[in-house]
Amino acid sequence: MSNAAQRLDDLLSNDLEALKVRSLYRLRRVVDGPQGPEIDIAGRRYLNFSSNDYLGLAGHPALRTAVYRALDDYGTGSGAAHLITGHTRAHATLEAELAEFVQRPRALLFSSGYLANLGVAGALLGRGDRVLEDRCNHASLLDAGLFSGARFSRYPHAQASGIQWQLAQRSARTLVMTDGVFSMDGDIAPLPELARAAAAAGAFLMVDDAHGFGVLGKHGRGSLEHFSLGITEVPVLMATLGKALGTFGAFVAGSEALVETLIQHARTYLYTTAAPACLAEASRAALKLVQIENWRREHLNWLIQRFRAGARQLNLPMLDSITAIQPLLLGKAERAVAVSEQLRDHDILAAAIRPPTVPAGSARLRITLTAAHSEQHIDRLLSALQEVMSNAVN
Ligand SMILES: *Cc1c(COP(=O)(O)O)cnc(C)c1O
Repeated sequence: MSNAAQRLDDLLSNDLEALKVRSLYRLRRVVDGPQGPEIDIAGRRYLNFSSNDYLGLAGHPALRTAVYRALDDYGTGSGAAHLITGHTRAHATLEAELAEFVQRPRALLFSSGYLANLGVAGALLGRGDRVLEDRCNHASLLDAGLFSGARFSRYPHAQASGIQWQLAQRSARTLVMTDGVFSMDGDIAPLPELARAAAAAGAFLMVDDAHGFGVLGKHGRGSLEHFSLGITEVPVLMATLGKALGTFGAFVAGSEALVETLIQHARTYLYTTAAPACLAEASRAALKLVQIENWRREHLNWLIQRFRAGARQLNLPMLDSITAIQPLLLGKAERAVAVSEQLRDHDILAAAIRPPTVPAGSARLRITLTAAHSEQHIDRLLSALQEVMSNAVN
């Protein structure tokens, strides 16, 4: 190796060693087979409480069939960005169906949720504008605000009152960005209060509903339906397709003018290849199931209640969440890693979430439930947690 290459490796190795010492080093696991309540890793089968496949659709046969058919119609690659030749009939139809489902004039597909958030902030904000964000927002929302060039501030978690003095400061345009359901905490943002505060100050509210879409609300329209809010209160709605819908990608829904502005100006829309048409067809199939199969949401809610009742009996330090995201607060990163490893000895996967994903001292297990789990799965998790947590005290 040349000297320069060796020097680079030395620098990087030091940093990697430091991560290991602090229990912050991250490892990937290679999964064989589809997502589901049980997954196979390195020849061993685990009960899976670490996926965002909330409705159990990621491995659903109807989605596969949609992909097989669309492969015959469209082939694999989309070939170009949406504005060149990548925008197929499948994409256009999915956009229309998503818009109708969330009851907004238009929806615009992005190739991922991360790109959608960057695109919205970049297209709507610039120097002289402001962006206010919940301090527990998803990294993609925080990055979107930071990269937008607008003046950036965070407000205390889920506190609408925390934004009022910031809203009072003058700026050309102010965008308030929040997760609908917080990805690492599982709680639902106080959207009615945020909408009121934003409206009173002439600011605009954007909700990233990655973890509410498909799951919350009577029809699964998400956290806005949960609170009966519409486009008037929340002009910018973003949601992802890779979680409850079990596919991949994301969309932004709003007015004609909003969507046309994004098409003209969102750099992460303009300068990236359109997702394959077969994925759009899979998302259409998933959206149908979201609308037809209410039992998935009902069963999931039943499991959440059962799990929370059991966790209460065991005195587990759960965060206060009514959603499918059920975090078990453990404090130090080492402790979260140790509990996660001990669960793995019980053939159970529940990921340890550590800084910088969550604030220092609030490492946790992020337990996620899905409609594909059974009551027996929940009971197995609870009895393993009982054993592991009583060991963890000693
Ligand atoms: C997962 C997630 C994203 C990113 O979506 P991708 O499609 O995975 O890029 C954005 N926001 C939130 C809140 C998320 O949980």
